[in-house]
Amino acid sequence: MDKKIESIAIDGVAGVGKSTIAKMLAEKLGWKTLETGAIYRAITASLLAKNYDVKDEDFVGNIAHNLFIEVKYLKGVQHVFVDGMDLTAYLRGGAVENNVPFVAKVPEVREKVRAVQRQIAESENIVVEGRDIGTVVLPNSQNKIFLTADPKVRATRRFKQLCAKGQKPSMRKIYADILKRDELDKTRAISPLVPAQDAFVVDTSDMQANEVVDLILTKIKTKEKGLGAER
Ligand code: C5P
Repeated sequence: MDKKIESIAIDGVAGVGKSTIAKMLAEKLGWKTLETGAIYRAITASLLAKNYDVKDEDFVGNIAHNLFIEVKYLKGVQHVFVDGMDLTAYLRGGAVENNVPFVAKVPEVREKVRAVQRQIAESENIVVEGRDIGTVVLPNSQNKIFLTADPKVRATRRFKQLCAKGQKPSMRKIYADILKRDELDKTRAISPLVPAQDAFVVDTSDMQANEVVDLILTKIKTKEKGLGAER
């Protein structure tokens, strides 16, 4: 009999720690993670590198059909290739950060990325992290989690992370960027950021990452035993 492929779908607001939680969960379960934001970021980096106008929705939509996207795991680390180029090193720069929502709202881009995500999730047990995983990409996943946290708490976490890396960030800018990204993700016409109806919503404002992971694992195990009432 074929082995049953399982997934955990993690969605949530910007800067809430989805990738940290996804990685910790995957490690505990011995699964892989898929950071889907990295795919949208790689497409954005590829378009910016060619000096294309990423705010021209029709143009980006046309280009999207011909993009060749691959996700590879090299020494356990996720890399994203667009048209054969590994763009992993360029995903966190300011230009990509500010422009990715414009690229991510284009229907043809989402269609393309959705197919890549599904193909990966169908091949192995995986924790998939993004904005529309429970609602659109893996609507049949049995384990849907939606993470949220107060924007001020998220901005403070980000501020501390950057300080720890030796940078001198502006708290006001980080906070404004988080609010802007939330707004763009929640109000876009296609695949807006909303919890799936059957998602387990966790407000992490007052929680440490390990507490969030333990809560999710308990919820999943309780559900498996058929003991837990759904939300
Ligand atoms: O998660 P990350 O910050 O890397 O995502 C970057 C951007 O990609 C998000 O702000 C959002 O605009 C887009 N995104 C999306 N759908 C996903 C994952 C990310 O629209 N599933």
